[in-house]
Amino acid sequence: MIIRANTATQAKHSNSITIKKKSLRCPIQEDIIKAVLFDVDGTILRSHGAGKQSMMEAASQVFSTTGEMETFNFQGKTDPFILYRSLEMEGFSPEEIDLAIPRFKELYFKILEYNLKNLGAELLPGLMDVLNALDMEPSIICGLLTGNFRGGAMRKLDYFGLFNRFSVGVYGDDTWDRNQMPLIASNRIRDDLGEEVLSSDITIIGDTIYDIECGREFGAKTIAVATGWTDADELKSHNPDFFFHDLSDTNAVMNAIKASIDTIHV
Ligand SMILES: [Mg+2]
Repeated sequence: MIIRANTATQAKHSNSITIKKKSLRCPIQEDIIKAVLFDVDGTILRSHGAGKQSMMEAASQVFSTTGEMETFNFQGKTDPFILYRSLEMEGFSPEEIDLAIPRFKELYFKILEYNLKNLGAELLPGLMDVLNALDMEPSIICGLLTGNFRGGAMRKLDYFGLFNRFSVGVYGDDTWDRNQMPLIASNRIRDDLGEEVLSSDITIIGDTIYDIECGREFGAKTIAVATGWTDADELKSHNPDFFFHDLSDTNAVMNAIKASIDTIHV
């Protein structure tokens, strides 16, 4: 079990940024390889409902129903969790859904591309500057940790030409359970990129309490950003290591990504 050291220094805040407690091993350890893993919806971009609408249209064509998707709360949920739970409530068995998944995905990705073109999407404040700053940091691996199917994440990010800016990714195809994603990411960083990164040197950035929860479970550092659909007070009440209203203060975000957390192993 990992318990965070509860020592803290109160950082000086700007008006738009609240930095929660932080205890540093040293100001910045540049030589240590770190990884930062971004959630997609509400963190990198907003797709104006294109994701949900496209999943519903694809489900309607493949399963002749959208199940309970209309009322399902998509926030923080993985695509397979949303799909299976919604359809199981309509009486579909997991095996029936498994058989149709390849067709569903093919259709969903096509519809998503079309809907993104028509509905548009919006890159969230500060994101491009943070990605550009990360490009200048060879010791920081930049990746994705998202409940989107990989093909969905690719289409949403490539609406802005950004998918190839992330050198590693964990997606809804890998697991239904977001809490398993940081471990999968860590293994993928080791296997695909040849780098061993400690859990405490991984930063998870997301817009929901589920992003905070999965990072904390793994002993990673968590940055919550209120550019999604969860309000700031709700996010702060789940004690992320850092909180930002948005990512527009590039220096503050980069310092949060570079900051090291103290951990006690018991
Ligand atoms: Mg999100």
